[in-house]
Amino acid sequence: MKKRNVLIVANWKMNPQTLSKAEKLFSDIQKTASRLQNVQTVICPPIAFLGELLHLYSGQKILFGVQDVFWQDEGSYTGYIGSAMIKNMGAEYVILGHSERRKLGEDNETINKKVLSALTEKLKIVLCVGEKERDVHGEYLTFLREELQSAFENVPIQMLKNIVIAYEPIWTIGREADDAMDPQEVHEMVIFIRKTLAEIYDANTAQRVPVLYGGSVEPSNASVLLERGEINGFLIGHASLVPQDFNEILSIASKRN
Ligand code: PEP
Repeated sequence: MKKRNVLIVANWKMNPQTLSKAEKLFSDIQKTASRLQNVQTVICPPIAFLGELLHLYSGQKILFGVQDVFWQDEGSYTGYIGSAMIKNMGAEYVILGHSERRKLGEDNETINKKVLSALTEKLKIVLCVGEKERDVHGEYLTFLREELQSAFENVPIQMLKNIVIAYEPIWTIGREADDAMDPQEVHEMVIFIRKTLAEIYDANTAQRVPVLYGGSVEPSNASVLLERGEINGFLIGHASLVPQDFNEILSIASKRN
């Protein structure tokens, strides 16, 4: 069976501040990302820069995404952007349910509406899930199961090919965070996520959904996380803003056998 590419998604968040910096960052990444085998790179810049960046590259090794969408496609919704608009611009991916949005009030129900809208417009979804903290009674597993059950409500099985899960334990996210999670624990969580998907759908389908890890991924831990975590790739925040680090992670991913 053909091995699938390692998927590396860059979440630039609200960075950088200017278009010229965004173009420079992109071109520094493009040099590496466009020549590597076995890696699919997805860049999710702020929407303000998306149109310009889309003009800089037309191959398939790098695809573009956004960091959120609204669940309606058009109408009186001041300030929002719908999935169809994003798809029409030429982007392919959307990150949904990121913990930084959940922290600002986005709930499971809202995320489910966005999931359904993005799927209708044939965007690929990077669905973020992850617990805030761990407890000895395993409540965090219930929390995670609920995030997944809610996000997948009314999602038909044939649509799952357009969903990737990004497991991001919240305490590991950001430059100031603790280190990345222990790879063995990541592996355990990947098993838990697939088990939950098997409960919602079936075991075969659950195996086919890619699971990424996110949270303080750096060149120094990327290799061990990929191998021992048994994940399908990464969602990367701060390291995606440093071309040297991000390119090194891409190169590590490309050598995975
Ligand atoms: C993120 O915010 O999705 C993330 C993974 O951030 P970082 O890599 O900075 O921990």
